[in-house]
Order: sequence, then structure tokens, then C-alpha cells
Amino acid sequence: MLSVEEALERILAFFHVLEPERKPILDALGQVLAEDIEGRFDIPPLANSAMDGYAVQATSVAGASPEHPMNLRVTGTVAAGHLPTVAVEAGTAVRIMTGAPIPDGADAVVPFEDTDEVERRASSVSMDTIGVNVAAPIGANVRPAGQDVRAGQQVLQKGAVLRAQEIGVLASMGYGEVSVIRRPVVSILATGDELVDPAGEPRPGGIYDSNSYSIASAVRQAGGVPHLLGIAGDNVEAIGEMLKQGLASDILITSAGVSKGDYDVVKDVLARQGDISFWSVRMRPAKPIAFGTLAGPDGRRVPHLGLPGNPVSTLVGFEQFGRPAIVKMLGKGGSPRSTVQAILEQDIDNYDGRRVYARVKVVKREGVYYAKLTGHQSSNLLTSMTRANGLAICPEDTSVKKAGEQVTVQMIDWPENVF
Ligand code: AMP
Ligand code: MG
Repeated sequence: MLSVEEALERILAFFHVLEPERKPILDALGQVLAEDIEGRFDIPPLANSAMDGYAVQATSVAGASPEHPMNLRVTGTVAAGHLPTVAVEAGTAVRIMTGAPIPDGADAVVPFEDTDEVERRASSVSMDTIGVNVAAPIGANVRPAGQDVRAGQQVLQKGAVLRAQEIGVLASMGYGEVSVIRRPVVSILATGDELVDPAGEPRPGGIYDSNSYSIASAVRQAGGVPHLLGIAGDNVEAIGEMLKQGLASDILITSAGVSKGDYDVVKDVLARQGDISFWSVRMRPAKPIAFGTLAGPDGRRVPHLGLPGNPVSTLVGFEQFGRPAIVKMLGKGGSPRSTVQAILEQDIDNYDGRRVYARVKVVKREGVYYAKLTGHQSSNLLTSMTRANGLAICPEDTSVKKAGEQVTVQMIDWPENVF
């Protein structure tokens, strides 16, 4: 039996960072930047006002106070998106809006609230002159050109994950498209004579295929593009044929057929069409894991991850081995799940020396995390996953993790109520 780490290392050895693609910036959200991004020009391009107010020369308002306002002649007005038409001189001011370029000659902006504009308006006094009630140091409320970005400066680094703020920065520099690592395509095949597609009619002895849908969703959450191949019965030819439809993808994932039962034939397909890397991992659930490669059309070896069929095993196996492979292909190599240390609320039994991933709900009470089992830990009970936000780990060498002990929990999501 392999440890989880050994299995993961062997699997990850088959994957590399995928090639870049160019796409519209909005479609690149969540992907990894494949190029360094330099400022194309200064941002802001021109010195501009941080406030609505009056552009002045600082020397014109030196010593101003409410008792001794400085009266300046207003020679014009300038709004954002327009260029000033007059320069500011000693003793003059230009009315200016936030974001509007600073007129020549001005070196400070006095906000409206520090002038007598409101009083003038209220008493219909001429606005050709404005009384300034405060002194303004040079540079007051002036946003200099290039304050955010200088032309030629590196702004975003290759390898960065594009979030809302990075997309905004790209837009601010007029980039419509960007080069990012493409998303891996993941083909998913469910196997089992008993399976019926959820869109189809139920039949006696049949069960609906949930694994295709849970894996596809987990693939999408991990940043991959799922491609459902459908359902193959438990025979080598059918599985082999259907897998061929997925050979153009970056990874094939099958569910079921990898345990020791009579009809567990996924491993026979791998034996016939590909190489088998290993079969058993020292973990629960998801001990039987198949991993190998199949020959692609162009001689490429297409990795194949065979997950066990029980719905919880499928998801936990995907979490430990499928997600990391996708994350690596996306160029996000160092993005493991976050873990928290929590106080366990019930025992986790470990009767055969495997690493147990127990489904738990983590909550925070008075600054401390607590992990509560979400019910019976049988690997066929998928609804126990719906109540879980983490997998609490009982190590291989621990026969029981006791209630009240500290446990490491791999967080599979961070819902609001954890905080
Ligand atoms: P197996 O790995 O073929 O022995 O399957 C183990 C268990 O998982 C059996 O109870 C199967 O019916 C169930 N199972 C297999 N594939 C799926 C699937 N796609 N959706 C839901 N349950 C499945
Ligand atoms: Mg089966």
C-alpha cells in the first residue's frame, strides 16, 4: 500500500503546467497570468484633482482662515474627462471636479467645504470670486501623474492568479486580452451496469449516476473544464470504447470498477490499453485508486485516474489526487487546501492503520474551531458530504482520535459560518 503522499507524488509526476492561451480579460478570471504585464503609460495619465473644489496656487491662499479668507478670482471650470482651458495665476482659481486634470500654474486644490461657495450660492452672491478659508500646502488634493503606475514599470507578474483587482488593473491599462495558462479539459466516465443517467428513467436494480455530476462540479470548482463521457457498463470493450472519446483531454477520470469485485473491470482496461501505476492507497475512504496512462491519438500518454465508485470515496479521492493534478496544470502548483486545527467533538475510529478523512462540519465559537462529525462515515452516504465543510484527518498510526483532542482539518470550503 502507498501512503497518500507517495501516491500523490507519483500522480503529479505525470502532469505539467499547460500552455498559455490569449483570451478576453473577463474570461481569464481565476487563471494564471502567463506573461509579465508592464504599464503602457502613466496612471493616472495627468495630474488630477482628488476633490471637488478650486485649483489654486498654494501661495495665493497662504495664511487664509475663516476670519481672514483669501478672495480669489474664478477664471474657469474643469470637469473630469475635459482639459483645462485656462491656467491658474497668482490670485486666481479654477473650479475643478474630482478626476479633472490640474490646470497649468495650479499646485493645490481647496475643497468646496473650505470655501464660502455654499454661502455665496445661498445669498446669490457672485461666483466670479471665491473666498478660501484655509491655507493649502503645495500638492494638497493633487494626485500626481503616474502615482499608481509608471509607464514601463512591471505591474503584474507572470504566475499571478487573476482576481477582480488584477482584471481591473489590466482594464485600466487598456488591455482587452491577456495571456493565461489554459484550463485543463477533464473527461469523466462513470462505469457500472447499475447506473442510469439522472435525466433518464429509473429501472429496477438501477441507481442514478451521481459521480459524473459530483466529479464534474468538483473539476469546475478546481478550475478545470469537465467533459462528461457518459456511462459505460461493466465490460472491458464498452469502457475502452468510451474512454477513446476522451483521449483528446488532459486527464481522464473514471469512477468505480477499481475494487476487487468480479465486475471491477476498469483495471482490466488499463492493463490492456495502458500502464497501471498503482492500486491501493493507505487511506479511508478511497483506498482503491487506479492510476495509469492511455495512449492518445498523437502518441501522447493521457493520464487516467480511476476513482472508487462509492460516492464519498469518489469525491474524497478526487480531492486528494484529482484536484492537485488540475491545480498543477493550471500553474497554481502551491495551492493546497487550507487546514485548520480544530477541537474534535466525537471520536474518529481508525481500525486498520489507514489515514482516515472524516467528514466534519467546522464551526468557530469564541475564537476556537470545533469539528463535528456529520454522521455515519460510510462511504456510500453522500448526504454526509453535504453537511461537511472539511475533512478531519486521523493519522495512519493513531487507532482513535478522541473527542476533545486537537485535529487537523482539510477545509473543502469556507462557508460564512466558520468565521
Ligand atoms: P464499485 O466501485 O463498482 O464496486 O462501486 C461501489 C459502489 O458505488 C456501488 O454501490 C456502486 O453502485 C456505487 N457507484 C458506482 N458508480 C456510481 C456512480 N456513478 N454514481 C453513484 N454510485 C455509484
Ligand atoms: Mg461496480
